[in-house]
Amino acid sequence: MDTPLRRAISVNYHFLRTAIPTRFALRAHETPKRFDAQLAQLSKHFAFCRAGELIDPTQDVPESSVMLTFDDGARDVVSWALPVLEKHNATASVFVCAQPYLEGRLLEIQKIEFLMKKLGIDGFRGSFYAEYERVFGGEIKREPLDFAEGYTFYRYDDEAMRRFKLDLNYQIPYAQVVPILDTLFAETFGAGSEAEAVRETYLSTDDLKRLVDRGFELGVHTHRHRVLPRLDFETQKREIEIGATFLEDLTGQTEFTIAYPYGFHDENTHRAVRELGLRAGLTMERRAIGPRDLRDRWSIPRYDVNDCFDRESNLMLDSVFSQISAGESEATS
Ligand SMILES: [Zn+2]
Repeated sequence: MDTPLRRAISVNYHFLRTAIPTRFALRAHETPKRFDAQLAQLSKHFAFCRAGELIDPTQDVPESSVMLTFDDGARDVVSWALPVLEKHNATASVFVCAQPYLEGRLLEIQKIEFLMKKLGIDGFRGSFYAEYERVFGGEIKREPLDFAEGYTFYRYDDEAMRRFKLDLNYQIPYAQVVPILDTLFAETFGAGSEAEAVRETYLSTDDLKRLVDRGFELGVHTHRHRVLPRLDFETQKREIEIGATFLEDLTGQTEFTIAYPYGFHDENTHRAVRELGLRAGLTMERRAIGPRDLRDRWSIPRYDVNDCFDRESNLMLDSVFSQISAGESEATS
């Protein structure tokens, strides 16, 4: 079947909350108030759609659609975003990792953020490398970044910070980073505090079911939020499969879209998602979605919310949204 000439913009959110003092403090990436104003603007010009509809040629999706996505399954989606979404009749796709539910563990990405907030950047960095030295000793063996060809990591950080974040998220082997983070987390927050952090941070399974009941789409964000191209094919496939099976068991649904953690994917990822029967894959490549992306399905681009609205005025950025405004040429394919 021919792919309809659809164009859309995807806007990705993570955490969305007012600054509430909690033991496990996260940066609020957006506030409910700003989110409300963003949806008010979007709903004036565009229709909202979910990932599953957008990539399905049989579904009737308006040509100028906005697909809202939430990554990491933050509790904020139900506590803060849901009332705003419903107020504006907006739908969204929510991408969830299985590890917090299956093992009661925080994803490393949030563990890092909690430690960063609590210890301060210098404190955390000092403790991390001291613990590395204590447990593993010697020179750090860093994994290559070949998979990220051309991508600029952490462009707003200074060199020392950039180096540290690359070590944490991309270059020091998981087998070393994970136990160090576990030790520092237990030392900093107290043994046994991880379960509490999980409850405070992520949607509960009841929340997830409630989202489905209200017409929101749940999608795969893998098992443990690992950078997929760092893993061999079998491990990638397993990461994705565990994430999908968790959602299948929870919802009874069988067809899911995946949002690749950190946006990275490679040929092995594509092979794995095809073999597992997923529907489409979302990246973090910042551009509009065109007909060719919908035909290919495995590299659908997404903007981060920070790319879409002015940080000060919170107004929709024309450079982004004019790409799908009515009257734009349909020549892009
Ligand atoms: Zn994520």
